[in-house]
Amino acid sequence: MANSILIVEDEPAIVTMLTYNLEKEGYEVFSTDRGSKVLDIVAEKNPSVILLDWMLPEASGVEICRMLRNKPDFRNIPVIMLTARGEEEDKVKGLSVGADDYMTKPFSIPELTARIKALLRRVPESAKKKELVFEDIKMDLVSKKVTRGDEAIHMGPTEFRLLRFLMEQPGVVFPREELLKAVWGENIYVEARTVDVHVRRLRKALNESGKPDYIRTVRASGYSIDKK
Ligand code: CA
Repeated sequence: MANSILIVEDEPAIVTMLTYNLEKEGYEVFSTDRGSKVLDIVAEKNPSVILLDWMLPEASGVEICRMLRNKPDFRNIPVIMLTARGEEEDKVKGLSVGADDYMTKPFSIPELTARIKALLRRVPESAKKKELVFEDIKMDLVSKKVTRGDEAIHMGPTEFRLLRFLMEQPGVVFPREELLKAVWGENIYVEARTVDVHVRRLRKALNESGKPDYIRTVRASGYSIDKK
C-alpha cells in the first residue's frame, strides 16, 4: 500500500503545489486547512507522515502537534512543521512539542521529499503496518475492525488500543505501568488496577465463543499476548 501524506495548510497555492509534487512521487495525499479537523482526519486516514503548517486559522501547528503527541495512537506518526518563520526559537519550540523535522518556506521540493523519505525509514515497521495478525485474531488498523476467524469482534476504543499494543510485540510481557503509559498516555492519572478491568473486557470480547485465551497474565509482572 502506498504511503500517505496529510497536508495541514491554509494557503491553497502551497496545498496545490505540494499535492501535485507528492502525488508525482507516488504518495497518496490528503489535505485540510482546518486545524480543528486534524485529529479526526488522522484517525480516519492513518497517514504515514503529516506536513503541518505553523500558522493556521483555527489552531496553531504547535497546538496540533502537541495534541497528536498526547494520543498514543498517533504518537509515532512523523510530523514535519512547515513555517514562514525562520527564527531559531520557533524551530526549537516546534521540535520541543514533538515535531520530527522543520522546514522554512519557501522550501525546495527535492529537500522536502528527501526528508519525508528519511522519516519514513525511521518509523518502526509495526507503526507502518495496516494490519496486525496473531493466530486467528486480525486487527485492521485502518478500518479499526477486529476479527477472530470469521467472526467480527466488538470492543471499546481502550480495549482496541490495548490489544494493538500487545499484538505489536507478541510474547513480550508488559508491566501494568507500561501499558498505562502506552494505552492511556503520559500525564494521565489512572490506577494500575484499571488495566486489569480493561484486560478483563478485552478477554471477554475475544473469547466469547469459547476460543482459546491468548492473553497471558503473568502474576506480579503484567500481560502479554501469547500462545500458552
Ligand atoms: Ca498558514
